[in-house]
Amino acid sequence: MLCTILIMGGRGRKIYSLLIICLFFSCQEEIYFDNAYCIQNVNVVDPIEGLMEEMTLVVKENKILQIVKQEDLRLSRKNNIIDGSHKYLIPGLWDSHVHFYFDRELALHMPELFLSSGITSVRDTGGAFWYVDSIRQNALNHPKTHPRVKIAGPLIDGNFNVYNGSVLPELSIRTQTVSESIAETERLVAQGVDFLKAYEMLSPAQFEAIAGIAKRENLRLAGHVPLSMEITRAIALGLNSLEHIKNLELEAVKNSDSMLLERRKMLKNQAYLPGRELRGNIHQLQKQFAVDHLALEAYHSILDSIKKYEAYQVPTLSIYKVPIYKIFREPFWQKSFKLLPNKTMKEWEKRVAASNDNINPDQKKFSDWIQSTTGEMAKVEIPLMAGTDTPLGYLTPGFSLHYELELMVESGLTELQSLRTATLQPAKYFRMEDSLGLVKKDYIADLILLNKNPLEDIGHTKDIHAVIKDGNFLNRNTLDEIQKEISAGVVVSALGR
Ligand SMILES: [Zn+2]
Repeated sequence: MLCTILIMGGRGRKIYSLLIICLFFSCQEEIYFDNAYCIQNVNVVDPIEGLMEEMTLVVKENKILQIVKQEDLRLSRKNNIIDGSHKYLIPGLWDSHVHFYFDRELALHMPELFLSSGITSVRDTGGAFWYVDSIRQNALNHPKTHPRVKIAGPLIDGNFNVYNGSVLPELSIRTQTVSESIAETERLVAQGVDFLKAYEMLSPAQFEAIAGIAKRENLRLAGHVPLSMEITRAIALGLNSLEHIKNLELEAVKNSDSMLLERRKMLKNQAYLPGRELRGNIHQLQKQFAVDHLALEAYHSILDSIKKYEAYQVPTLSIYKVPIYKIFREPFWQKSFKLLPNKTMKEWEKRVAASNDNINPDQKKFSDWIQSTTGEMAKVEIPLMAGTDTPLGYLTPGFSLHYELELMVESGLTELQSLRTATLQPAKYFRMEDSLGLVKKDYIADLILLNKNPLEDIGHTKDIHAVIKDGNFLNRNTLDEIQKEISAGVVVSALGR
């Protein structure tokens, strides 16, 4: 065939070439996908593959049925086709550290707040079981309109529990002895939690017992390093997601042994202080001192040990930076309050207006240290997950996760690494990486269609054209409608839109 074209030359050759092209396309069969929709000519940003340009994606029911180069698939016009030109498709995002129970009035709107910001999955890191379970159940009943919810139930704490309901909300359960810790943990396992969370005031024996149950049940164990222990010990026992990088610094100093003895003495709590106060006193005495006296060798050997055990880190950069740097006073942050139900918006605005702009230099130093440690962790490939602690600290649900991704980049991660912390990593954490967290054939269609490339600027994850949850395509108009209902305080959670 090629020879024939070559010997023809001139105008004849052009016509002949055209014929061949036409023949090729007419041979390529037109395909119709029943009960499906196709996003055509879209740029896909996959957390592993990176950017894949000009792709066609077919979504059927709740799965990605096909993902191919646009030129390799000839779509019949009968298909439901969505033009993806100049748009960027990423997996739906996770906020891996949220607390529904912290503000139960706001929590009624949190599923929609998350979803309208492209947060298609969340991990609740502490709240009364009956409450967070009801939110999880609602999400399971309405997967197309609710973000997936994974729960730990309450924090399992020690004798002087911090979140005991007196000043701070009752996010934890108090366990006074090892056998109580075991009984409460077994109860949570029997109730069907997705993971467990151990807290700061546990004794080493209590922590070890909880870690043993987590291991036996093949459940992830999240937590703060108990103040009675060192991080390397907690991680060796099975602490495999460390929230807020809490208490890492206490072992990263030369005199960590004597500091540990001092903490254990204080934890005996002769004065019978409430847990919140006791914890505050210990932090005040040791935290800043440790950051000011870091021993680099000890610090890096801790990071090596975290890496060795593949213990996930959830730095929650926003819950440090936003309150400490008083970011909540900045216009761009206050604009995010408009996303909240009116009543919450007014409350938060009032409280922010009453705040001052003084920045505590020690706290600022600590927040900066958390960010630099996050960068160091990324360098040695410790698995990181993006979580915010919303709705604490004026962190607007949904919006704050996008800020967290920006802070990840500010801490030294690339845009793609930052995206992984809210997509692939949490999917791996919950051992769902074969069905979630990538833009891949047969994966669950939890996706976001963006107007701009997030690999050029991670801030572009906020510029949302559409959210796809469990295959359900929520276009910009629908997202705006949801937003209006949230503002008006209409609870739409159970409607199954
Ligand atoms: Zn938290």
